[in-house]
Amino acid sequence: MKVLVSGGAGYIGSHTVLALIASGHDVVVVDDFANSKPTVIARLETLAGRPIPVHAFDLTDVDKTERLFDAERFDAVVHFAGFKAVGESVENPLDYYTNNLGSTFSLLRAMARHDVRRLVFSSSATVYGDAPVPYREDHEPLTAANPYGWTKAMQEQVFRDVAPAHGLRIALLRYFNPVGAHPSGMIGEDPQGRPNNLMPFIAQVAVGRRPELEVFGDDYPTADGTCERDYIHVEDLARGHVAALEHLDAMVEPVRAFNLGGGVGTSVLELFHAFERAVGHELPYRVVGRRPGDLPAYWADTARAREELGWVAEKTIDDMCADTWRWQQQNPNGFPDA
Ligand code: UDP
Repeated sequence: MKVLVSGGAGYIGSHTVLALIASGHDVVVVDDFANSKPTVIARLETLAGRPIPVHAFDLTDVDKTERLFDAERFDAVVHFAGFKAVGESVENPLDYYTNNLGSTFSLLRAMARHDVRRLVFSSSATVYGDAPVPYREDHEPLTAANPYGWTKAMQEQVFRDVAPAHGLRIALLRYFNPVGAHPSGMIGEDPQGRPNNLMPFIAQVAVGRRPELEVFGDDYPTADGTCERDYIHVEDLARGHVAALEHLDAMVEPVRAFNLGGGVGTSVLELFHAFERAVGHELPYRVVGRRPGDLPAYWADTARAREELGWVAEKTIDDMCADTWRWQQQNPNGFPDA
């Protein structure tokens, strides 16, 4: 298939671009580089051994999106593009709603007009709110704890309404906690400023960019008192997108959600100690107060992805740490500017 990947220069998008190419698909990237660097594309071209066409514009621009679909004949779209920082979404909610919903509207219009019927969407386990664990795809209603999460829940609803009207087939991929990096160490997660997420923060402590990890609370009702999350290697996640794309025409309903997670919870301290093993020595940490809004523990029910997509996460926590560490060591300050 010829696949348009929106946000293909981002963390999960870039790994998925390589997985699509490795599976024999042709990829075209659209990305405005609002939260990524153009040097990502050069790395992808080296790893893929071929040029990757890139269109650098903001998808909320309806005219530019329309012109792209006029110029190219796509078989499918994998839609990652969007703002993703929870805290920032609380400070600038209007930007989040405008950007995340606007790009989806613009894409859906262009798809409907050009008869492009296949879409894989980057959603999040955040839409489960505080549902009972493990999270199952048939849980309702969807909810969210912040504007970022609401943009995901709202986009899912938009897809459910629009798909039947335009004959679309849409897979909603609900990610748990993506971590890790390509085994080459050439691409990985490159947060701008202070990392919000645990794994990139630990990696920056290990490489000396941050003095210590602050563990947000050790008095939760879990085995070691720290929160448990379902970490998933970005390479497994990327394969999940290919599996979903290739399954779209056979889906049991036009819009279907799939959890992409490993199905087990790992605590903050377990992940931290696994990272110490990858580095080969102890790292500094300190327990501080809870972070507002954190849930104690959640993980995915993975049955649907296994049964319908034939997909399971294969990489271990140690793989996730070793690959993150390789990326961080080779690129202590992330991607170069040029
Ligand atoms: N966490 C932490 N210190 C940090 C960043 C995160 O202790 O500097 C904890 C956080 O409280 C949560 C877990 O690590 O329990 C995963 O946090 P992350 O933001 O990566 O994912 P999310 O909570 O959004 O699933």
